[in-house]
Amino acid sequence: MTCGWLTGPLSNFLAGESGRIRVPVPCFLIDHPRGKVLFDSGLHPAVQVDAAGRLGNAARLFDVDFAAGEDVAARLAALGVDVRHVRHLVNSHLHFDHTGGNASIPNAQLVVQRREWQAGADPDLARKNYYDRRDYDTGHDVLQVDGEHDLYGDGRIVCIPTWGHTPGHQSLRVRLDGGEIVLTADACYLRRTLEALHLPNIVHDADGMRESLARLRRLRDAGARIVFGHDPEDWATVPQAPSPVA
Ligand SMILES: [Zn+2]
Repeated sequence: MTCGWLTGPLSNFLAGESGRIRVPVPCFLIDHPRGKVLFDSGLHPAVQVDAAGRLGNAARLFDVDFAAGEDVAARLAALGVDVRHVRHLVNSHLHFDHTGGNASIPNAQLVVQRREWQAGADPDLARKNYYDRRDYDTGHDVLQVDGEHDLYGDGRIVCIPTWGHTPGHQSLRVRLDGGEIVLTADACYLRRTLEALHLPNIVHDADGMRESLARLRRLRDAGARIVFGHDPEDWATVPQAPSPVA
């Protein structure tokens, strides 16, 4: 599901590059026999009416296209999915474009890496990593996991640690009947990030991020389809859920 678009400096995605890039804000619904799983929740709906008010500094960096009907709750409604019936909400990390919709998914258990959750709870680390507590301090039941975590124990949906972008970033490996895909989220913004090992200009831990990219490359080489976190060209080739917005 495309839950809005951000336009910002290309250097934020590929250090040293000039110009700007318009990127999608993706969310993913995985329908597992044991429950519906949402991977990331996009932007907070308040961004639709007052981006600067909700996002503060981030709104100075990014132009936001985020219309009514594009928030994750509206996207799910268009699919006939009741937000109350989402069983697990997996957050790749705590940034505003990945957790803004958390409050709209009230009954899910939140699945996040322990070290990411701890960073979010530490005022110093939260500030350094540009987290907004209001996005994730939403009263969810939180399952804090350490490293690789097989959500339903059948190898279908597996959280994999991809530290670096933030202290406890995770990606999601999903085994579909037709093959394996890896939803990298911000461990790998763009195809070029993976191909050239080209890091963004803001990274929590550059060495950690390089190791994570090496892991993603191994998964790719073993045959997994890599779905990049914010790559507009790759995103155009990813099958999209029906949209309520024309
Ligand atoms: Zn992001």
